[in-house]
Amino acid sequence: MRAMTDARWAFEAYESIRSRLPQARFPAAPRRIGRLTDLMDEADLFLLDAFGVLNVGESAIPGAVEAVVTLIAAGKRVMVVSNAAGYCKRVMLARYRRLGFRFGADDVVSSRDVLLTELDGGPALRWGLMAASAHGHEGIEHLNGTFLGDDAHPYHDAEGFLLLGSGEWSETRQALLEATLIANPRPVLVGNPDLVAPREAGLSKEPGHYAHRLIDATGISSRFFGKPYASIFDHALAMCPGVDRSRTVMVGDTLHTDILGGAAAGIKTALVTGHGALVGLHPEAAIEASGIRPDFVMSSI
Ligand SMILES: [Mg+2]
Repeated sequence: MRAMTDARWAFEAYESIRSRLPQARFPAAPRRIGRLTDLMDEADLFLLDAFGVLNVGESAIPGAVEAVVTLIAAGKRVMVVSNAAGYCKRVMLARYRRLGFRFGADDVVSSRDVLLTELDGGPALRWGLMAASAHGHEGIEHLNGTFLGDDAHPYHDAEGFLLLGSGEWSETRQALLEATLIANPRPVLVGNPDLVAPREAGLSKEPGHYAHRLIDATGISSRFFGKPYASIFDHALAMCPGVDRSRTVMVGDTLHTDILGGAAAGIKTALVTGHGALVGLHPEAAIEASGIRPDFVMSSI
């Protein structure tokens, strides 16, 4: 059973870790727009967050499929930039297809891709995996990884930890991970910096939430891959040579990942308020309280 929470808790939690997030410059005031297609004259590359923009849980957001089709028909490049790290690209693409989106492998950049690219250049360690065993080892077969469960032994045995997905995580497992890191600090790499993700039943707690608790409890320093950190934006932009950052817009529902990260990467940002992270909050108040100001605000894409 996933641990669930609400939007107010998530906003406060993001604010409490603000010193660990990138710094950015923001526009003086956001401009309200109707739909994403209103930005066709201003942008050539649209980087779309998934959860809260394209889908909520296993349901597509009404109008999202049509918006993507319209942009592509107008010659725009549309990519998904997602902090989903719990499963491989094939599963991710199949999931988007089920929702009605026709993205190819080159149209999707996940924080998992960025983390795996980073691991390619590093030492081969024995990794303990925070990841749903139900998704198997597909895409990470080449890593020497063991799923962390309720048995303490793999925690002691690991030479480092990869935090990819929290669907099967529990307080018991978190306590085991904390204890083993206090006894013997080792590298912790976080493939999904999100604190929460919108599901049909509310907000689920994601690997970033557990990572920050580990940092607080053990004093270790983790490395994060995914929004709001620069490497995922660099990765996406490198796949679109010739597109200027000033003609690129990051579209997302979360101020502290999509909007902060996009602004830090020097691209435009558009906040979606009708689904996902800000549902139940006053978006203007959240923007004001955080100081994270998007270029554009819309209810839905
Ligand atoms: Mg989102």
